[in-house]
Amino acid sequence: MDLPRDEQMNVIEHIRTVSPVRCAGCTACCRGDQIVVLRKDLGDDPRLYEGGLAYGEYKGEMTLMLNRKPNGDCIFLGPAGCKVYDRRPATCQNFDCRRIVMAIPSAGRQARAVKDGLFSEEIFEAGRQRLATLVIHPSEEKIYKVDADGGTPVGDYITGREMGI
Ligand code: SF4
Ligand code: SF4
Repeated sequence: MDLPRDEQMNVIEHIRTVSPVRCAGCTACCRGDQIVVLRKDLGDDPRLYEGGLAYGEYKGEMTLMLNRKPNGDCIFLGPAGCKVYDRRPATCQNFDCRRIVMAIPSAGRQARAVKDGLFSEEIFEAGRQRLATLVIHPSEEKIYKVDADGGTPVGDYITGREMGI
């Protein structure tokens, strides 16, 4: 199946809700100086991250964000993973490396994004691996294109490879 790019993004958005990314201890997005901005508009409560916050520039504004260790890891990343997993910020809850690969599909643009410090190569690799093996849970017989008319079936089981990844 070869869907247009905007439809692919709709599909992956749907997939994110029915088939969450299988992290399995990866933590690539918790490392490599990735910025986690606190989003009060999405319910983040700064009091939950006391001692782990800093102000930093994001999109030209000084914003409250999670602090990083000297090596670039998130301040809340421990040997066994996220130490605040049950109350991790909205940015972490919503992050899906498969979406990053979908949004930046070409190798050249991915390399530029790595060079510009937007995302690490490890995140792209994690996203590529998980996208290539993606299957919808058996209880989900169809995937749906999200549009103004509601859901429109676009296919049965689908994998990243079938989407041309
Ligand atoms: S990079 Fe992807 S697989 Fe790894 S922890 Fe982040 S969301 Fe999960
Ligand atoms: S708060 Fe947890 S999930 Fe979010 S970047 Fe830090 S260690 Fe990772």
